[in-house]
Amino acid sequence: MTGIRDLHWSSDFISKTPGDNIEENYPRKVFNACWSKTTPSIVPSPEMIIWSDEMASILKIDEKESKILSGNVLCSGMKPYSQCYGGHQFGSWAGQLGDGRAITLGEVMSESGKLELQLKGSGTTPYSRFADGKAVLRSSIREFLCSEAMHHLGIPTTRALSLCITGEKILRDILYDGNPSYEPGAVICRVAPSFIRFGSFQIHALRGDMNSLKKLVNYTIKTHFGHLKSSGDQLLIDWLREVVESTARMVIHWMRVGFVHGVMNTDNMSIHGITIDYGPYGWIENYDHNWTPNITDLSTSRYRFGQQPNIAGWNLARLLESISPLFSETDKIHNLMLHYDDYLALEYQKMWCQKLGILKFDSKLINDLIFLLQEKEVDMTIFFRKLANIDESNHDSISESFYEEGISQEWINWLNSYLQKVTPERDVKMNTTNPKYILRNWMVQLAIEKAEEKDYSLLNELFQLIKMPYDEQLNYESKWFSKRPKWAKNKTGCSMLSCSS
Ligand code: AMP
Ligand code: MG
Repeated sequence: MTGIRDLHWSSDFISKTPGDNIEENYPRKVFNACWSKTTPSIVPSPEMIIWSDEMASILKIDEKESKILSGNVLCSGMKPYSQCYGGHQFGSWAGQLGDGRAITLGEVMSESGKLELQLKGSGTTPYSRFADGKAVLRSSIREFLCSEAMHHLGIPTTRALSLCITGEKILRDILYDGNPSYEPGAVICRVAPSFIRFGSFQIHALRGDMNSLKKLVNYTIKTHFGHLKSSGDQLLIDWLREVVESTARMVIHWMRVGFVHGVMNTDNMSIHGITIDYGPYGWIENYDHNWTPNITDLSTSRYRFGQQPNIAGWNLARLLESISPLFSETDKIHNLMLHYDDYLALEYQKMWCQKLGILKFDSKLINDLIFLLQEKEVDMTIFFRKLANIDESNHDSISESFYEEGISQEWINWLNSYLQKVTPERDVKMNTTNPKYILRNWMVQLAIEKAEEKDYSLLNELFQLIKMPYDEQLNYESKWFSKRPKWAKNKTGCSMLSCSS
């Protein structure tokens, strides 16, 4: 068998960017550095409860080493570290944040290029501030399943390799209402080309540390955007243009499937345009642009579903202003923001054409649809799957996606005008754009409740389900191709989530 310990570990990031001189582990501000050396904390009794065969096969490993993947054992070649970054949280600059509970073990080469393996929940680091550096089973299951679900939906994302429970009990106050309780501790191993965020650049720019900023930018472009061959300002423009475009594509994918990230702070925005940091995310059930899953966000709903493309743009503007000191002439930077708007609009139009099976974007048709979808509660996922099979004779079947009964004349009018615009055999295309199975909030909640009792059957069932989200999977249909049950409408973990994790 081949395991993590057999991989050829390297540490390009820490050899090519400035590091922290201090090696002790205590919370502090770290200046003039992109990372600090850290060591995962020892946990009492690690046990792997789920693992991604597919991720493992990309890494060419097949041994489930829970001691290594929970942080109890390091292998030769690993040089663990935590990254320094800052971020705008809910629109305000929060200063240094950093990997408060994430520790990168190192980098390995794979058929998909360089990959970084990172433990999340493996104890305090210099960036832990006032917190314990740990993660609970609840949030770890949410991250494991959702990152894999996003991958299988065709959405750029960090991946998950493994999830270990640690044997520890961790105190968390889920609703921040003074009622903490103990929950099982867990560590996941997540995988990505890198975990460099917009905030990784911002921290140096806002502190005026041009040396670290330059080195990190050079490292990032050389290592992860090595195909770019220009130089000077043009190289920065070419790089940022790719970040702008990949971010736009990512957020349009989210809109396509009804994913709401929930905390689009600039520290949670990947430089690769991949979905990162699964916290209080949620999935749209009844289509609603105003819905946010995050209770911390309820007062302003900054991170609501329909706002995500604008917030991604706002975050990109923060990235661009952080890189701007490295330009000799800054006049071209603004064009990148204009490009974001244009590129996003094209992706948005393409996405709607594919969702609806129409050839030409039709703003009236789509705006009328968005209005109708939100007027009464309509299940987004069921609606688009049913729509693929609607014709003049079966309008009524669309009402299976309605949370309230009955189909109105407005709906019939919309369907009639829609049917005049569809392409032949639209169903095949629509069904590869509109998933049949998404990771509904209440489904994960059910799996979490069982897993907390050490029953992992539902966790495994959902893991199977989300691997083929566009397939009919008739054996799962009655159970999971299903509207939100009444009990889930206002339940914690289903309609309301917090950053507590
Ligand atoms: P998030 O919004 O979850 O991405 O986290 C924001 C910041 O809080 C990041 O710097 C995290 O590393 C840090 N953080 C979150 N939870 C913990 C924890 N339990 N211990 C230490 N740091 C944490
Ligand atoms: Mg984060």
